[in-house]
This record gives sequence, structure tokens and C-alpha cells, in this order.
Amino acid sequence: MTDRALVLFSGGQDSTVCLAWALQRFDHVETVGFDYGQRHRVELACRPTLRDRIVSGFPAWSAKLGDDHLIDLTVLGAISDTALTQDAAIAFSANGLPNTFVPGRNLLFFQFAAAIAYRRDLKHLVGGMCETDYSGYPDCRDDTLKALQVAINLGLNSRLAIQTPLMWIDKAATWQLGQDLGGARFEQLIIDETHSCYLGDRSQKHAWGFGCGTCPACELRANGFTKYQAARTGQHP
Ligand code: ZN
Repeated sequence: MTDRALVLFSGGQDSTVCLAWALQRFDHVETVGFDYGQRHRVELACRPTLRDRIVSGFPAWSAKLGDDHLIDLTVLGAISDTALTQDAAIAFSANGLPNTFVPGRNLLFFQFAAAIAYRRDLKHLVGGMCETDYSGYPDCRDDTLKALQVAINLGLNSRLAIQTPLMWIDKAATWQLGQDLGGARFEQLIIDETHSCYLGDRSQKHAWGFGCGTCPACELRANGFTKYQAARTGQHP
């Protein structure tokens, strides 16, 4: 039996590294993306480019890369009042969470991913959630996703496994993982074609890729890249 996986693939750095991780491990890998009315919808446009460049540049992976699924979840944006789905400044809410938190987002993503996986006979659901240097989102917690896995499997009478390879590593280690998986060429692909910036800015290019450079997503990506580069330089003077 082949090991089949579905990667939650947004077009960002984390999910692109997760895609490479899955392509390294599993025999057949499909991708799913969600349009939830995010302000940085430009990330969705990065997805086909990334998939095309993986197919053309990484032969060992391209044979395993299966279908892509794009799900319309704009209803989530319509019922959410957040800085990711409305034109609002990014700030902390009274409950201590940043207003970039989209309530229910990852919970819904996995429910829809599970429904696709059920139909397509895919066993592993792979997501780039991370507890280490995340923005405090409760739906990125390991416990949340483990509980969700149990609920999904009970509800579907299935044995799906939620995989989160980035859960316990920081952003510098995510850069390193990309390098370990696909070398310099894959790292350049991440820099050139993935999108993290919450504001959807692709007009400015930095050493770590495109973005406004100041939103929380850009800061996390830039700081991780700096730390990763410093560690590399230290190892190879
Ligand atoms: Zn930004």
C-alpha cells in the first residue's frame, strides 16, 4: 500500500517546506489551498508557480506530486472581523490575541482537508502549524491538533494522521529544514516564490524574499532568516 498524503499548502514558506517534507517521505502527495478572503490573497497566486517549479526542478519529487485542490471558504472571511480578512491595522485584541487570528481557521481547514482525504484515500494530513514562535494562535497548538485528529477520526470512522513537522522548531530551523530537504535550489525557490507578508506586499524584495518587511509575518520570516544565516556562517567560516 502506498503512503498517501494531503498537504495544507497556502503558498507560504512554512507550507512549502511541509510540501517538500511530505514529498521526501510519502509515495503520493496532493495539495489543498483555501481562499478565505485573506487580504494577502496574493499567496494563492504563488501556489501554482511553486508546484510548477517543483515539477520542473525536482524530478524525485515531481513523480509523487498529485492533484491540487482549491477550496472556496470565503464564507469564513465574511463572518470574521480580523486584520487578515478586513482592512484593519494589526494590533492585539483585549483577549491578548493578535487581531490577525481568524477564529476557526485551522479547525475548518483540517475538516475540509479530512473530507478530501476521505474521498481520495489519503492517510496523512500535513500542516505547517508551529508552537515555537507562532503568534499565539490557539489553533496552532499541538494539543488542539491532536484533539482535532481524534475528533475527525471518530466522526469519519477513519485513521487519518495529522502531521505537523514544524511544530517544535523555530523559523531559523524551518529555513534549515528547507535547505536540508532540497538544497540551495529549493531555498532559492522559497525566497523567490513563497509569500508570507500579511499585507500582500510583493513590491519589495529582501534577502529572505518579498514583503513589506514590517508586519509580524515579515518580521518572523526575516528574523528567522538572519538567525539561520548567522548559524550557517558560524558553521562554515
Ligand atoms: Zn509584511
